[in-house]
Amino acid sequence: EREFLLLQKDAPAVTVDGVHIELEANIELPEEAKLALEMGATGIGLYRSEFLFMNREQLPSEDEQYEAYSSVLKTMGNKPVTIRTLDIGSDKNLNDEATVAVNPALGLRAVRYCLAHPEMFLTQLRALLRASVHGRLRILIPMISHMHEVFAVKQYLEQAQNELMAEGYSINDNIELGAMVEIPAIAIAIEPFLKELDFVSIGTNDLIQYTLAVDRVDDEVVNLYDSVHPAVLRLIHMTIQAGDKAGKHVAVCGEMAGDVLYTRLLLGLGLKSFSMHPQHIPDIKQIVRHAHTNVLRTKVAKTLNHAIAIDLDEVNAS
Ligand code: PEP
Ligand code: MG
Repeated sequence: EREFLLLQKDAPAVTVDGVHIELEANIELPEEAKLALEMGATGIGLYRSEFLFMNREQLPSEDEQYEAYSSVLKTMGNKPVTIRTLDIGSDKNLNDEATVAVNPALGLRAVRYCLAHPEMFLTQLRALLRASVHGRLRILIPMISHMHEVFAVKQYLEQAQNELMAEGYSINDNIELGAMVEIPAIAIAIEPFLKELDFVSIGTNDLIQYTLAVDRVDDEVVNLYDSVHPAVLRLIHMTIQAGDKAGKHVAVCGEMAGDVLYTRLLLGLGLKSFSMHPQHIPDIKQIVRHAHTNVLRTKVAKTLNHAIAIDLDEVNAS
C-alpha cells in the first residue's frame, strides 16, 4: 500500500468536488527538502530555522545561513518555500541559554527574542533576503501577538534590504511576509494583521497550548491537550474565514495538519493548505482525494454551532 501511495505522488491533491488542496512539508534541516519533493509536497510550508542555531557553541554566520536557506530554495525550484525566523526560548533553546524565564512559554521567545536581539535578527533577515533570489521565498514570523511587532519586523526587513542594496546584492522583489497564528489573541482580532501581511499559518501546537492553558510538553496535563476543543476549532475557523474574506492565504502547519484523524475536519473548516512532516503527505492526499468539501463544511458547521465537543467519528464517517 505504501508503494501505491508513493505512486500517487504526482496525482493532484484535489477533492471529489474539485477543490485544490496544497500539501506542503514541514522541515527542520535543509537536506529534508529532497524528501519533501519525493513525497509530493507542493512547497515547504514550514522550515523551522531554529534547528540551525541549536546544539552548537556559536551562532551560525550570515553566510552559513545564506547557504542553508539557498539550498532549500534551489531544491524546491519554483515551489514556495516558507522559512520561519528563529523560534527559540520555550520548548526549543539555544545551547548557552538554559531557560531561566519564570514561564518560558509566556516569556521572551520567538519574535520577542529576535526583537530583543536585533543584531542576531538582522543577520538572519539579511541571509534570507540574499537567498531570496534562488526561488519563491515566504518569510514566516512566529509568536506574533501585537501589531507593533509586525511593524518592527517590517522595519528591520527594510533596514536589511537597504544595507544589502547599498552593498550591491540583488533581492527578489516578490518575497511574501506572514505570521504564525498560534496565540489566541491574533486569531480573535486577525483583520488588521491580514491587512499588513501576505499570508498566515496556524500553529496548532501552540494555539492549543495557549487556548486551553495546557503546557504542550507537560505529561501531567496531556489528557487536557484537546485538539478538537470547540474553542480551538472556532479559532481555526475564524482565521480561515477572515483569510478568505481578505483574500490572504491561510495554512495550518501544526501537528493537526499531518494527522489523518483531523484531515476531514480541517477540510470542513474550510482549510485549503496543509503543512506537515513529509512522510505524512501521501496518506493525507489519499483522504483529500476522497473527500467532498461541501458535505464536510455542512457537517462541521452544524457541530461548530452547538456541540460541546465535536464528534470526530461522525466527521470521519463517509
Ligand atoms: C506550532 O506551534 O503549531 C508550530 C507549528 O510550531 P512549533 O511546533 O515549532 O512551535
Ligand atoms: Mg509554535
